[in-house]
Amino acid sequence: MSTNENSLELLREQLDATNLQLLELLSQRAELAGQLGKLKEAQGVPDFDPVREQQMLDKLIAANRGPFDDATIRQLFKNIFKASLNYQKEEHKKHLIVSRKNQPDSTIIKVKDTLVGGKASIMVAGPCSVESYQQTREVGAALKEAGVPILRGGAFKPRTSPYDFQGLGVEGLQILKRVGDEFGLATISEIVDPRHLEEAIQYIDIIQIGARNMHNFELLKAAGETRTPVLLKRGLAATMEEFLHAAEYIVSRGNTQVMLIERGIRTYEKWTRNTLDISAVPILKKESHLPVLVDVTHSTGRKDILAPCAKAALAAGADGIMVEVHPNPAVALSDAQQQLNIPEFHNFLSEVKESGLFKA
Ligand code: PEP
Ligand code: MN
Repeated sequence: MSTNENSLELLREQLDATNLQLLELLSQRAELAGQLGKLKEAQGVPDFDPVREQQMLDKLIAANRGPFDDATIRQLFKNIFKASLNYQKEEHKKHLIVSRKNQPDSTIIKVKDTLVGGKASIMVAGPCSVESYQQTREVGAALKEAGVPILRGGAFKPRTSPYDFQGLGVEGLQILKRVGDEFGLATISEIVDPRHLEEAIQYIDIIQIGARNMHNFELLKAAGETRTPVLLKRGLAATMEEFLHAAEYIVSRGNTQVMLIERGIRTYEKWTRNTLDISAVPILKKESHLPVLVDVTHSTGRKDILAPCAKAALAAGADGIMVEVHPNPAVALSDAQQQLNIPEFHNFLSEVKESGLFKA
């Protein structure tokens, strides 16, 4: 070997050793940043502190003796800071109770005799609003006949216009319970006010928190104080992170029985009521151990595409489907255009089941 080759080899070895030293230092730095992140989390301070970052960069630039110029040093360290920040964020996620990193096994929620999030897929169906005993009973009977175990029906309706039907309130919950008891169905209804929770849980088996209230932190906290299962809808414009943090509000108060439901998000698209975000399903299943459902009615607002969307949701890993059913949708007091009538519901169910995607 020539002297030149010898020194090339030697320099390469030194570079390799330096790389390893750098790696060791970067790992040490990440650990320190992780500890700092935990302290900041405990104090409720955000991870990113631009003033502190500027101070660190200023110190580094002042100490820079070359051969890299200041701009290069700034660029390199900005990347290191960014990597640490991302690591701190990952660490935070690990600490969420709802995170699958925190609990690898899926949460299974027992509602009456039904398991949500277990091996079998689940169907939740019923009218947009509880309008009368007769109307709710007709749907309850159809669910019983079809073997669908959970009856939905709104009693407190968060309507866009204050002049639209606002729901029957507690009377609606009482009707739901009467029909549920009659047919052995579990019931679910949306609650919009923390003050109604205590009374409502005497009548319903699952508290629904609607899309418009996903950011209502006082309602989330109050639902977290109960021990009644909660179905939490994704907000109209909520990110996955916001959605999971909303769930965290509930479980952190001790109520671990939370189900997530994708119900479409607002986009520029007009041919559907909302845009069904199918990618939310595998993401939520991956990031969280909570059951994940998909509301095909409110996400699409179109009866003609409910079955393919339900199949897509199941194929993507959803634990269940929610759909609106009314004995006579044309005269429904809310969401008249999008509810299935009873024969349409039976067809919908058959089509979904025949796909083999709805697990028995
Ligand atoms: C509902 O399910 O009755 C409802 C109002 O849905 P969302 O909150 O998703 O709009
Ligand atoms: Mn509705």
